[in-house]
Amino acid sequence: MKDILTLIKDRDPGEKEFYQAVEEVGESVLPVLDRNPQYRQEAVLERIVEPERIIIFRVPWMDDQGQVQVNRGFRIQMNSAIGPYKGGLRFHPSVNLSILKFLAFEQVFKNALTTLAMGGGKGGSDFDPKGKSDNEVMRFCQSFMSELFRHIGPNTDVPAGDIGVGAREIGYLFGMYKKLRNEFTGVLTGKSLGWGGSLIRPEATGYGSVYFAAEMLATRNETLEDKTCLVSGSGNVSQYTVEKIIELGGKVVTLSDSSGYIYDEEGIDAGKLDFVKRLKNIKRGRISEYIDKYSEAVYTEADTSLDHNPLWDHKADCAFPSATENEINEKDGMNLMKNGVKLVCEGANMPSAPEAINIFLDKKILYAPGKASNAGGVAVSGLEMAQNSMRLSWPAEEVDQRLKMIMKNIHQTCLDAASEYDKPGNYMAGANIAGFTKVVNAMLDQGLL
Ligand code: NDP
Repeated sequence: MKDILTLIKDRDPGEKEFYQAVEEVGESVLPVLDRNPQYRQEAVLERIVEPERIIIFRVPWMDDQGQVQVNRGFRIQMNSAIGPYKGGLRFHPSVNLSILKFLAFEQVFKNALTTLAMGGGKGGSDFDPKGKSDNEVMRFCQSFMSELFRHIGPNTDVPAGDIGVGAREIGYLFGMYKKLRNEFTGVLTGKSLGWGGSLIRPEATGYGSVYFAAEMLATRNETLEDKTCLVSGSGNVSQYTVEKIIELGGKVVTLSDSSGYIYDEEGIDAGKLDFVKRLKNIKRGRISEYIDKYSEAVYTEADTSLDHNPLWDHKADCAFPSATENEINEKDGMNLMKNGVKLVCEGANMPSAPEAINIFLDKKILYAPGKASNAGGVAVSGLEMAQNSMRLSWPAEEVDQRLKMIMKNIHQTCLDAASEYDKPGNYMAGANIAGFTKVVNAMLDQGLL
């Protein structure tokens, strides 16, 4: 493991998020390498950490004042052993190669766990859609796609949304792809319903995460009924996580954005959630506006000088980190334990720092790594691809049923793989081992590429 980390650190200095993701998977799969000497001889770990292809490009666009702006675009085509590259596009000022490589790496194993034929990829730009007009976002998306279109396709690479890329951005990106290629194909997922989108796709990551949590609780003869839950973020994943928790009888008391968080002791009910959806998806406002409408809640501004995030310092039973990577540090992990949290289910990708994960594993709480618990989004994207190929549209109940079944299967796969390697109940080890084994075996079947 040390050799691998030294290799990637020497080759790609400064990519700390990528090292973090590689180290977590690498540690988990060492016993798999020990049991399969061929894997070492075939250098599978060295091969799997190296993207098959990285595309970096200039994205010039004009703002509403007539000033030309220049951003950087990326697409990481990480691994295509089990299907076309698949993974979201992220538009956020923090986007860089390290973050996208970590996300693409995680995506490879996540997609393998869904049992659908999808390889792993990720992309995006350091463009910040916040505060931009619809016209500016459109011009940016058109410029971005005017380069990306030559690298993607329904059988090659099928991007989707992620942070900062929702239905609006997917629409502009798809329109430009269609114009340039003169073909209407399922090249992007997360499309709107009227032109190729799938029912339940917007809900899928959040719903899937809660289905996974319910499966974990069932192993201890428990349900979400009457459980108090902390949810971070207030975007796509968070909104539908809250919706499903409410449906299953739980109480959600927090939501956040990068400016701060709200704590609503009475619970965010369906009406309040509708307000948040309108606030975030239509008005594109800030979560602080929640207390203007619901004065019983308390708003706390984000404070980067603190050594912890106060959102995680409330009495609760369950936590659903659903905003971004490394949002739970060691102190937050300790606070969660102090406050009685018995389940952490990751909606975001890699939201828990390794020190926090170690605390969860030590305390033997129910801990689901994002690559397992948030796989519902990409799973329904896979179902959207299937519907596009058939030019059919399945009813919501059918997609939801399939989603539920996929999450149940991922849960069982993680438990089985963990037990096989003597780590009963360790979902992180199970997810890494199962995803890795599937991808590596496909790579070996296909020869040295
Ligand atoms: P959205 O853009 O819809 O929402 C992201 C939310 O997280 C916003 O509330 C945003 O606040 C907050 N956030 C983003 N960056 C930061 C930051 N650096 N610090 C604090 N808060 C932040 O994205 P999604 O809901 O789609 O994605 C959330 C997470 O889920 C990401 O980790 C993503 O990779 C993961 N994920 C998403 C899937 C999907 O289907 N959408 C599938 C699987 C995983 P603000 O508005 O202030 O930026």
